[in-house]
Amino acid sequence: MQKRMVILGGGESGVGAAILAMQKGYDVFLSDAGSLKPVHKEELKSYSVSFEENGHTEEKVLNANEIVKSPGIPEKNELIKKIRAKGIEIISEIELAFRYKGDSKVIGITGSNGKTTTTALTYHICRHGGLDCALVGNIGYSFARQVAVNPKPLYVTEISSFQLDDIKTFRPDIAILTNITEDHLDRYDYNFENYIASKFRIAMNQTKDDFFIYCSDDPVTTKYFDYYSIHSNPLPFTMQQQPNQGGFIKNGQMTIETGNERMTMSIYDFTLKGKHNQYNTMAAGIAASTIGLRKEKIREAIQSFEALEHRMEVVSSVRGVEFINDSKATNVNSTWYALESMTKPTILILGGVDKGNDYSLILDLVKEKVKAIVCMGLDNRKIHEAFGKDVELIVNTESAKEAVHAAFHFSAKGDAVLLSPACASFDLFKNYEDRGKQFKEAVKDL
Ligand code: ADP
Repeated sequence: MQKRMVILGGGESGVGAAILAMQKGYDVFLSDAGSLKPVHKEELKSYSVSFEENGHTEEKVLNANEIVKSPGIPEKNELIKKIRAKGIEIISEIELAFRYKGDSKVIGITGSNGKTTTTALTYHICRHGGLDCALVGNIGYSFARQVAVNPKPLYVTEISSFQLDDIKTFRPDIAILTNITEDHLDRYDYNFENYIASKFRIAMNQTKDDFFIYCSDDPVTTKYFDYYSIHSNPLPFTMQQQPNQGGFIKNGQMTIETGNERMTMSIYDFTLKGKHNQYNTMAAGIAASTIGLRKEKIREAIQSFEALEHRMEVVSSVRGVEFINDSKATNVNSTWYALESMTKPTILILGGVDKGNDYSLILDLVKEKVKAIVCMGLDNRKIHEAFGKDVELIVNTESAKEAVHAAFHFSAKGDAVLLSPACASFDLFKNYEDRGKQFKEAVKDL
């Protein structure tokens, strides 16, 4: 009998899952509590997928054999509770894609920070090295859709913890865990351990034929490493030790060793700047070396990769003041790395919707490098409380334009204005991209 597959959520991953499930012969139904984008509706129609929007019809969902849940839907959702109570299997879109990927290889990248950068860089190196591969997952294009419409021998996949929550068999040949710091705790019952468990699921199904690339300078990863018995080959990257296998940076030189291969490269040749990006570059370089790419190709690719928009993106200089857009920094840890890489006196634009931030983590760096803070958000109390004693100038603003004007006003030639908000953006903006774009517009209008 034809199996009924219900897809909950009709964003990029849901629509991708629907297309793949149709192709594999399921009876597919997609249901979204909100409205679908016109382009997604057109697509679903063109593949003859039946769907509903602006609400779920329970009978049509609870008669599924299997459900693909969008990563955006939390477990505490009433419908999800009913599905769980009925014992219907829930999987994520990457699990579905994995089921049908055939012999192709998968590099899976997760972590609290640096996922998109590491994924994009890994893909860039693989492409430069001549591999036929696809860039999929959280970064924008659905893994399932790619498997359905344009299968490739290698998928470089960015994976969120929410996607990992509902995997069963997903097993990347090469897994990268960039780091683990507190994030999204609202989705994990405010229990950090639940979130950590979720991240380690990237290696859960790996075997001795696979590789696990991780940051051995990250205290959380190393603390829990033994607890989640990992069966694949560990390849650490670090700036503190000199491991036999994996990667390290010492005296400005990166060394990568995998199997019998060894390559070195000066960190001054990396196009991506900042200490965080040195970690990301090591991770991507190890993955590329593990997959067998030649050293020269890896080196060339690391030198030719261009920084991504909204991640320490240098916008321009106005009368000697440099403006940097790091709108993607939506938690304190990201902002820590942004500040860490600053070499000029900085006016920091901070604020938005805080997911339980502990600002004390950046207090030392703020004291050392920040001359003024411009809050850009509706509720800035926590920022004032955290920095009021140590930073003389703190002002509130409620738009990118106001924030840029205030920051420019406080700046002098040779300073930098850094938008690295440590918060989500949806109090004032559509998303972090919108925040970054409005910031750049405001800088252009100065
Ligand atoms: P993600 O996809 O995990 O959100 P991104 O690559 O988009 O990560 O980077 C988001 C922000 O996180 C960057 O602007 C930077 O400030 C910070 N960041 C990037 N890589 C790291 C890292 N390895 N460790 C800590 N922070 C990082």
